[in-house]
Amino acid sequence: MSISHHPDDATLMSFAAGTLSEPFAIVIASHLEMCGHCRETNRSLAMLGGAVLEGAAPEELSAGAVASLLARLDEPVPVNGHRIVKGQLPDGSARGHAFPEALTRLLGGGLDAIKWRHVVPGVEDRLIKFPNRRGVHTLRFLRAIPGKELPEHAHSGSELTLVLHGALRDGGHLLGPGDVSDMDDEGTHSPVVEGAETCVCVFANEGASRFKQLKFRVLQKLIGI
Ligand SMILES: [Zn+2]
Repeated sequence: MSISHHPDDATLMSFAAGTLSEPFAIVIASHLEMCGHCRETNRSLAMLGGAVLEGAAPEELSAGAVASLLARLDEPVPVNGHRIVKGQLPDGSARGHAFPEALTRLLGGGLDAIKWRHVVPGVEDRLIKFPNRRGVHTLRFLRAIPGKELPEHAHSGSELTLVLHGALRDGGHLLGPGDVSDMDDEGTHSPVVEGAETCVCVFANEGASRFKQLKFRVLQKLIGI
């Protein structure tokens, strides 16, 4: 089973531009370690962003390079022939992802290094706070047993979820290891652990909304509108 849920283009652009707060950047860096498709997109975005920052005039940028990047952002993400259908469980172990370096650096080790806190029976978490000038953003690790509904929570802004182990159903989506759920609206949701394995995931949360118009700004700069 391959990764089939990816961050929004706007989130990848914000990451490439260095404007994501630390918890979000850590989750995206972790996804990039697990996802070749987004790694490739990120490389293209970083090159384009560098050219814009260096003040290259639009005609100095290869028109072909810009066109191919924009086409890439619009194309459907390949899922290597696999589609998650209702009732079909991702096989986490078969994906064979190593625990991301970005999280290992933060935790000082892998999943074993997490000091879990009891939340409710069958659910444990570990909260890491990142105070910054926009408030306190957080990274929350959650571990829950099969069938468990994670405590319902509302969020006032963006939330980025990365599944590290097991499977999670969030709304109509079934997420396996490496999959990302990228929510930028205010809302309430209560994901459920699916399958026979304990699910471990990490949520980045921030109150303020991220800047979603970077694609437009880049285009504006390039074509002078
Ligand atoms: Zn991806």
